[in-house]
Amino acid sequence: MSKENSMGKLANKTALVTGSSRGIGRAAALRIAAEGAVVAVHYATNTDAAKQTVAAIEEQGGRAFAVQAELGVPGDVDTLFEGLTAGLREQTGETALDILVNNAGVMGGVGLEDITPEQFDRMIAVNAKAPLFLVQKVLPILRDGGRVINIGTGLLRYANPDEIAYSMSKGALDQISLHLARLLGPRGITVNTVAPGVTNTGSPIFDMPEVREVLANMTAFKRIAEPSDVGDVVAFLASDDARWITGTFVDASGGTLLGG
Ligand code: NAP
Repeated sequence: MSKENSMGKLANKTALVTGSSRGIGRAAALRIAAEGAVVAVHYATNTDAAKQTVAAIEEQGGRAFAVQAELGVPGDVDTLFEGLTAGLREQTGETALDILVNNAGVMGGVGLEDITPEQFDRMIAVNAKAPLFLVQKVLPILRDGGRVINIGTGLLRYANPDEIAYSMSKGALDQISLHLARLLGPRGITVNTVAPGVTNTGSPIFDMPEVREVLANMTAFKRIAEPSDVGDVVAFLASDDARWITGTFVDASGGTLLGG
């Protein structure tokens, strides 16, 4: 471990960031690892992207390993837990976990007229059910003073009818923060939601200048978020500096739709 990492805010910690092969999860994993934690880089299908994230963490002097498990299917959490504990044992000699970031999620883009029960079930399964049962599963290995960080969405505060089902699934995820904060508080474990707005995770729509302008103008800062804008907030909540913040909703949308 580099000198910088051994002195980082998360030195001697371990973290699982679900869906960290790409996008916001990747940025959170990179920053958490830069602060010294050993990071489990979880993904579903994109092995190359997960390997690249692990390699990027190692290049910056950190430690990480990849864990594959598709969420939203039977046995998902058990598969993830097996990979997580095997990797932690190999990297640290034990299976203790300090930080869980429930980031993996599927977007909707389907309004009331077109949404099917199958699409709805899938969003609930990946975005809400898997995180709940993942918390249940890791609780025995989650150390006192730990962190659970749920990646929600700014859509819990501003309306977009095309994302009704997606927002419902994220609303359910957000409830985990409120209620488990009370349950886990006596152990010094904080549970919070981080809510990004539109974030440039590489979709081709961000290459269209007219789309970029509209999306940028929705924020107070007049630019579209980069994944690190959100990843840095996640890393802050993971740190000891955020020990007195729990059960809350942290808007990381760059002041989206504040008006004016
Ligand atoms: P992304 O770039 O599409 O990456 C998604 C990540 O989640 C990937 O690592 C992917 O793994 C993993 N994943 C997706 N479905 C999965 C499943 N069923 N099981 C296991 N892993 C799965 O995502 P993102 O845009 O960074 O979004 C990250 C989180 O932020 C999501 O919860 C999203 O709802 C939320 N969010 C995003 C935005 C935005 O504008 N981007 C805004 C608000 C909230 P593979 O690489 O293997 O596919």
